[in-house]
Amino acid sequence: MTLALELSGVHAGYGRIEVLHGVDLEVPAGSVVALLGPNGVGKTTTLRAIAGTLGVTAGTIRLDGRRIENRRASAVAARGLVLVPEGRGVFPSLTVVDNLRVAHHSAPPEAAGPWELWLDEISATFPRLRDRLGQTAGSLSGGEQQMLAVCRALVGDPKVVLFDELSMGLAPLVVSELFEHIATLREQGRTVLLVEQYLTYALELADLCYVLAKGAVAWQGDPSELRHSPTASAYLAG
Ligand code: ATP
Repeated sequence: MTLALELSGVHAGYGRIEVLHGVDLEVPAGSVVALLGPNGVGKTTTLRAIAGTLGVTAGTIRLDGRRIENRRASAVAARGLVLVPEGRGVFPSLTVVDNLRVAHHSAPPEAAGPWELWLDEISATFPRLRDRLGQTAGSLSGGEQQMLAVCRALVGDPKVVLFDELSMGLAPLVVSELFEHIATLREQGRTVLLVEQYLTYALELADLCYVLAKGAVAWQGDPSELRHSPTASAYLAG
């Protein structure tokens, strides 16, 4: 099994407060892995440490076998890893097409490819956005804004995509549609690590689950085993 991502004994936090106390995590290449756990246990912090927006104080993070801990976020992105943060991160006053254009401009040209080609691809994959290219992003529904955030993340053709609470505040039908797109990313050979509160969809989609508790992995295993595991269930209940 080839690992796309491997965290070993990762410690990180904010100022003098340590949040991650030795996180170990393996994400096989081409899989969808769910990182679960109650509020405040360090899921977002783990994603930030991987994406390079937060430094680590100890431990190693490997992307395709190469160390990336404490590298700048732009350097990690250049190696093919992107984070879609919680809260969508689109520019509400810009149109959909301009949001896409800004993302395309900021990606390395060789990874992004020609603008027209990329726009055609996005339009074919996300017909809902194609029909709203001239609308401001702020006037889109929550689900459409999330789709736009996903498109923006895909501009550099990343190998590994991290999603933080993709489903936050969205209706179940919309979540289901977004998760179908994640399944497509896996079919395309990409690797996905997602932090998710929406257990039903996460467990249906994921190949492997980790449950984080108090800044360390408390349980890991097959999604089908999770609901029957008293340990995992206890942690997920908070
Ligand atoms: P949630 O679903 O609530 O976001 P989480 O598991 O993703 O939960 P984190 O966001 O990683 O948790 O937060 C872990 C701890 O770190 C919490 O106690 C939180 O208050 C703290 N924390 C998060 N961001 C910061 C920050 N920028 N500065 C200081 N403390 C922070």
